[in-house]
Amino acid sequence: MGLFNRKQNNPANSPDQAALVAARHAALADIALNNISDGVVITNAENKIQLVNPAAITMLGHDPAGVINLDANVVFRFETPQGIAIEDSNSQFLLSLRNSRYFTTRDYVLINAQGQKHPIALSVTPAMNAHGEKIITFRDISKELESEGEQSEFISTASHEMRTPVASIEGYLGLALNPNCATIDDRAKKYLEEAHASSKHLGKLFQDLLDVTQLDDKKLKVHLVPIEVSALIREIADGQVPMMSEKGLKFTYGSTSNMGDSAGGHVLDQEIYAAVDIDFLREVMNNLIENAIKYTPNGGGIWVNVRGDGDRVLINVTDTGIGISPDDLKHIFQKFYRADNSQTRTIGGTGLGLYLVKERVEAMGGKVWAESSFGEGSTFYVSFPRLTWEEYERRRNAVTNNMMPQPGQAVTPSQPIMSTPDDAAAPAPAPVQAPVPAAQPIVSEPALPTPPMSTPTT
Ligand code: ADP
Repeated sequence: MGLFNRKQNNPANSPDQAALVAARHAALADIALNNISDGVVITNAENKIQLVNPAAITMLGHDPAGVINLDANVVFRFETPQGIAIEDSNSQFLLSLRNSRYFTTRDYVLINAQGQKHPIALSVTPAMNAHGEKIITFRDISKELESEGEQSEFISTASHEMRTPVASIEGYLGLALNPNCATIDDRAKKYLEEAHASSKHLGKLFQDLLDVTQLDDKKLKVHLVPIEVSALIREIADGQVPMMSEKGLKFTYGSTSNMGDSAGGHVLDQEIYAAVDIDFLREVMNNLIENAIKYTPNGGGIWVNVRGDGDRVLINVTDTGIGISPDDLKHIFQKFYRADNSQTRTIGGTGLGLYLVKERVEAMGGKVWAESSFGEGSTFYVSFPRLTWEEYERRRNAVTNNMMPQPGQAVTPSQPIMSTPDDAAAPAPAPVQAPVPAAQPIVSEPALPTPPMSTPTT
């Protein structure tokens, strides 16, 4: 009885009052939709547009009535920031509409009904109900990109300017430490060694910052040339052997055949061809091997392996170092991310190396990922589309012909074949055969089929 009375007395519980509250909520939702500067479009389960707010109408350039009941994928047309149309076959937007999956990006440029182009931040959110509506929100980010561009221009100029004096400090400290150039006592030597190490670290930080801003601004162009990769990787790895020896690390280089024997596979010298940017690949490999050295305690082992596996080239850099925890493994390719634990705290770094590795590998049309068992070691994998020998020859001849002067043409230095990463879009790698796993690894992003953890062979 008391409850009944309370219900009766609560104004919101009378049907009239509830209707008033609902109407008020609807009016407030209208105020929000009509006044925000973000475009909002709501579709039904079939992805037909049911509602558009004024900001969306302005950005889409359509008349409001004209878009109702049109397919959202017809109204929204996109291209990449590089001006390449995003077709249905590779549209994450369409995929998220079809599969009712959340999707967000800052890498789409909206082409409106008048053909005007606006870089946008876009998201598709499935409604949390049984009807299957989707909410598309988007806003123009031209100004944000402009100010980010100015910021990165500043970082790039500052890093460039600071790198020069730091290089000279590093050079002079090196001279001071060279017994052929200077005489110093043991205490001064210790201080200068510290200063030398710090100046090297600072120089690397500036270089990494410069590379990051240039890569982010797409100022670094990728030049894919057909090469035999295994010799190049070996040469790069050999260059790091003195650093490995300083720490007493055992180094193994090889290619494992797919017909592994009970000992874990034969070591073969395979010729493996791919189209890569040699400078990029050098940076990538140096970075991965330097990390393996840095994060592996004295006396451990490092194994670098190149494998031609079907239609792809698979490189691994494996170490018996400190390993990476599952939580950290998810983030290590992010800009400035460093695992923070008692062991990494004493090891210097910028957290930019793996970000640069990922950017460079992807710019070449490849993929990079990592596996690790915390406390036991890590394996970093890089994979690229592989060229058959015939394709390699064909591309090499094209390069050579490109260098041949045409009749009546002056001889000028020629450029290597330039190719966009899209030319070489990498297929998702299939699991590879490798030596027997030491422990069940955890795979970092991007998630790929899990090859077994490879332990260094000697
Ligand atoms: P850093 O300059 O810190 O080495 P990176 O981007 O190269 O930056 O690496 C990011 C983080 O990933 C490192 O701080 C470290 O915690 C972890 N990491 C990278 N390589 C290895 C490795 N071979 N073994 C263990 N941890 C690694």
